Amino acid sequence: METLRSPKELAGPALGLPALTFRAWFEAQFGSSGWVALDKIPRLQWMDYLRWYRRVMSIDVRNETAVAAVVPRGDGTVLLELRSPRGDSRVLARRVVLATGRDGLGGPDLPGFLRKLDRSKWAHSSDAMDYGRLTGLRVGVVGAGSSAMDSAATALESGAQSVDLLIRRSDLPRINKAKGAGVAGLTHGHFDLPDELKWRVRRYINAAGVPPPQGSTLRVSRHPNVRFNFGCRIDAVRPDGSDLRVITPKGEFVFDFMIVSTGFMIDWHARPEYASIAPHVRSWRDRFSPAAGQYDQELADSPDLGPIFELREKFAGRCPGLDRIHCFCYPATLSHGAVSGDIPAISDGAQRLAIGIASLFYREDFDYHYGKLEAYDVAELVGTEWVPAPAPTARDAMRGVRPE
Ligand SMILES: Cc1cc2nc3c(=O)[nH]c(=O)nc-3n(C[C@H](O)[C@H](O)[C@H](O)COP(=O)(O)OP(=O)(O)OC[C@H]3O[C@@H](n4cnc5c(N)ncnc54)[C@H](O)[C@@H]3O)c2cc1C
Repeated sequence: METLRSPKELAGPALGLPALTFRAWFEAQFGSSGWVALDKIPRLQWMDYLRWYRRVMSIDVRNETAVAAVVPRGDGTVLLELRSPRGDSRVLARRVVLATGRDGLGGPDLPGFLRKLDRSKWAHSSDAMDYGRLTGLRVGVVGAGSSAMDSAATALESGAQSVDLLIRRSDLPRINKAKGAGVAGLTHGHFDLPDELKWRVRRYINAAGVPPPQGSTLRVSRHPNVRFNFGCRIDAVRPDGSDLRVITPKGEFVFDFMIVSTGFMIDWHARPEYASIAPHVRSWRDRFSPAAGQYDQELADSPDLGPIFELREKFAGRCPGLDRIHCFCYPATLSHGAVSGDIPAISDGAQRLAIGIASLFYREDFDYHYGKLEAYDVAELVGTEWVPAPAPTARDAMRGVRPE
């Protein structure tokens, strides 16, 4: 991935502060002519911007720290077990936000045919991999989304002998419906929609598919040794010596290596850190049945969240404190709209979450705040700002005269 897929103009995580935007950071260094000349934001430059953001906002980021367990204790706290090169540690938190990204509640969505293949013969597009190992190889890329283009382009640029994209659809999606859905109503009103309408809009976007960016597609198609194979659902993959024979409705392909660019899935059980909550989280599938023909695996697996992105129990009372865990990653989209990860509305979602948590803290801490209110004694008047009038005498009162 050379550049972000999002247009450079979106304000992203700037929280409504113009000085905090990528544009402000970029123009301070490269001027407005540099901004005009910029096409899409280079990926590593985005990371530089995020590092600057972390510094100027004084965000306490602990690198190389893995959360190994998230355990609600039912006593008003959630236990986090942490692993880092400095050793293991435990933290008690009153609220935990899972801002764990696109694959944050599961992992790569791996097709079943991979089970028969040696792990050295394939990679998922999200794997950290040295693409130099593909030099001179015949590579098959499964999928045609943004990650498939990035995988194919990187393989080609690394000297792959050939790259075949195996694409189930008969054509690439041309229109990004997710972009078309990005109106203020969806950002602020999706949560309050009836379930049927939430499902309808997300299912429509999923079924339409999101086209890969034009630049990423051209980065692939400019190579003479790439083929876009449409209508190529994979029926079987047979290892044959060091070859992989791939059977599709359009015929057989032979590869040395395959990259599956098949996206991510939600699976709480796939993440050991969620072992104690996985059986208790209520998903949409637990209480919503879509109309015939409208089923969608990703939507069915999505957590059924409350108004502050909080998890809810599948069975009341089985996991006290589960609602102290807030899901602020892509799987929140069906409940809340696309406000919990992607650049376009991330600030709106973050503010909804932060304001909601502030409100919960205030309610929980009411006695504390009330005590502080009673103890509060900062005087705004010291008592010398006026002279009290003497009480009127009886004669003044009878004459209706106020004393001077
Ligand atoms: C290839 C790709 C390209 C994308 N391009 C765009 C784009 O151009 N525009 C856009 O808007 N969106 C894009 N997205 C979506 C992208 O995921 C989000 O926009 C953005 O990265 C979300 O930020 P985040 O902080 O929520 O999640 P992430 O950036 O994914 O960060 C999640 C973090 O959580 C950490 N984490 C997870 N589990 C644990 C654990 N147990 N312990 C400790 N840490 C943990 C991860 O290590 C990671 O650092 C892209 C996604 C992918 C996969």
